[in-house]
Amino acid sequence: MTIRTAIVGYGNLGRSVEENIRNQPDMELVGIFSRRAELDTDTPVYPVADIDSYRDSVDVLFLCLGSATDIPEQATAFAASFSTVDTYDNHKKIPAHYEAMDEAAADNGNVAIVSTGWDPGLFSLNRTIASSIFPTSQQNTFWGKGVSQGHSDALRRIDGVKKAVQYTIPREDAIEAARGGHGADVTGHGAHLRQCWVVADESEHDRIREEIVTMPDYFVGYEVEVHFISQEDFARDHQGLPHGGHVITSGTLGGTTNAVEFSLALESNPDFTAAVQVAYGRAAYRLKDAGLTGAFSVLEVPPYLLAPESLEELLTRDV
Ligand code: NAP
Repeated sequence: MTIRTAIVGYGNLGRSVEENIRNQPDMELVGIFSRRAELDTDTPVYPVADIDSYRDSVDVLFLCLGSATDIPEQATAFAASFSTVDTYDNHKKIPAHYEAMDEAAADNGNVAIVSTGWDPGLFSLNRTIASSIFPTSQQNTFWGKGVSQGHSDALRRIDGVKKAVQYTIPREDAIEAARGGHGADVTGHGAHLRQCWVVADESEHDRIREEIVTMPDYFVGYEVEVHFISQEDFARDHQGLPHGGHVITSGTLGGTTNAVEFSLALESNPDFTAAVQVAYGRAAYRLKDAGLTGAFSVLEVPPYLLAPESLEELLTRDV
């Protein structure tokens, strides 16, 4: 059995999904649907406007579009024609997205797995499992070390900044406090360091540093480091998209303090997010094959459906 897959949207995530599918034993990539006519790839590229004519040749469609506007505007139309998997990450709007996808998918006999990836995604799963273990628990999520796209954009909007990237780095003392059961004392501002790497003319450094550390919402209230570097060093050391973090949950059981920790250290955020999305693609296929329809969050998908191995093989391996 080969699962026939396709990708819609070819940015960082779309490229990583394409690469990931090449390594799957049970999947093939039928094509990439894009709003752009020309893409730098050997995979067949089709206009997204024609996507409905591929309904019968695609089992699972990976939605690799942006979460800001693309997914809210377009995802339900895709779910009406295909079984889909997305990585929608606007946390506050996930319930509304789930509901809209549920209706579109169920009405058309499809499955839509929503908000996979790592946060939301694997972090969500862990938050639920860990907090279910304790009668009362303290839970903290730390992000990083990772590139914050929003903060990097804010740096690049400052006059005189030629290149810039911002890494969010969790503070070790805050992580230790959470591990020791004192996470309630950890505040969002105190938990993370904001580290900026900037290329700019030397005469501008003092002004730019001042503008960064006084920028409301983005940097005020945080510990901020500003490092000025050359174009060459920037090109050599700051091209990647690392990310990751920790979900730490602690609780008291019979007078003892116990902690559960789930950590990710990702050299490439899109490669890892894509890997999770593709694994959920296998689950989407199997759920539909079993006659189920509608939207599913990661909390509702049994883990064995993600694996290429059968349940029997997994049980043999894990006992
Ligand atoms: P991106 O690179 O900005 O791509 C988003 C869309 O923009 C693409 O689908 C593509 O659509 C279009 N695009 C890309 N490059 C373009 C270019 N050079 N010119 C014109 N259009 C271009 O975003 P991304 O890094 O792939 O991330 C996609 C989403 O993944 C994010 O919005 C985020 O919400 C989500 N995400 C989730 C998690 C998680 O853990 N849940 C983690 C990471 C990311 P067309 O091909 O149709 O033009």
